[in-house]
Amino acid sequence: MKIETLAIHAGNHGDLTSGAVVPPLILSTTFERANDGSLVEGRDIYTRASNPNRRALEEKLAALEGGSEAIAFASGQAATMSIFHALGAGSHIILPDDIYYNTKVIIDNLYANFGLTCTEVDMTDLSAIKRAIKKNTKLIWIETPSNPSLKITDIQAVVKIAKAKDILVACDNTWATSFFTRPFDFGVDIIMHSTTKYFGGHSDILGGCVILPALPASDGGVLGVAIRTFQSVGGAVPSPFDCWLLNRSLSTYAIRMPVHAKNAMKLAVFLENQPQIEKVNYPGLKSNQYHRIAKKQMIGADGVPCFGGMMSILVKGGEKQALALASNLKIFKHATSLGGVESLIEHRYSVEGLHSKSPENLLRISVGIENIIDLIADFEQAFK
Ligand code: PLP
Repeated sequence: MKIETLAIHAGNHGDLTSGAVVPPLILSTTFERANDGSLVEGRDIYTRASNPNRRALEEKLAALEGGSEAIAFASGQAATMSIFHALGAGSHIILPDDIYYNTKVIIDNLYANFGLTCTEVDMTDLSAIKRAIKKNTKLIWIETPSNPSLKITDIQAVVKIAKAKDILVACDNTWATSFFTRPFDFGVDIIMHSTTKYFGGHSDILGGCVILPALPASDGGVLGVAIRTFQSVGGAVPSPFDCWLLNRSLSTYAIRMPVHAKNAMKLAVFLENQPQIEKVNYPGLKSNQYHRIAKKQMIGADGVPCFGGMMSILVKGGEKQALALASNLKIFKHATSLGGVESLIEHRYSVEGLHSKSPENLLRISVGIENIIDLIADFEQAFK
């Protein structure tokens, strides 16, 4: 089945007792057993361990990435933690140098006394990745496009380096989504999402997930079991209502994604030609240094290269001019996060604080699905 059909039907088994086409929301935390105390076949036990709404969501998430199994969490951060925890104490991880900054905070802060360490590298420099490998390196983490400078990592090339050394590769596919990049096709071992973003799509559900590949796992499934245990025992699970709502949002995922990408492409071309803008970071632009790799691995569901809905711009003049532009916009809301139907703009330097590596004149833009004529007109009035 194609992604548009899977987004609607995968995991949606309706309700056999009522005949409801839309699966009911099951809030109960506990489920009745047979009179002799045994489990009734197919029934859940306790909602932290499993719940019908979560199972339906996990089935859909796995289908959307072409994976065997998805494990849903209460946030993207909890999903990331589950992967790091499963690697075991004392593991070393190679990370992109412009990774979503809170991913690194998990290692440096939460897992420091678990002995996790990391090395940050420019993932577009393959020799730097090779140099960063240590005896205890267990994982290479890819985030492409990167945040916020939209660098594109050649996933296939990184997987080749990792496999030669028996190292796992995880891909945070939150920005590109399964609609524009299919990490499992390039041999990645684990996909992670902040479902808060494009999967949720309406800026009203916090969530995350880990997805495991359809191919037999190279470690015999050990990692997958550890991640599932982290979920069901650790308990950072999404509520049945969040699962139900996310399942509903995903029904329109395949309709939303091409609009985000088409709008972003048009906005990037417009912004590239404005005298107030120093640079537009968008892999769809022919002038972009990562355009060649992006064309190879960012393919839309129709088989045509397509570059997603995220970009960043460098504003001439510096931080003051960037902040002024963000606050002059009326449709683009000056707020953090991404992937919702509404357009957002954000000054990453002030959000990330003192340790930020983002240029002071950078604005990150999440292009929504409003009419592009209105979005361009909003920038035109803001520049005046
Ligand atoms: N990964 C990326 C690329 C993100 O942008 C974010 C959040 O902004 C996360 C992970 C963390 O996800 P969450 O906020 O759902 O915990």
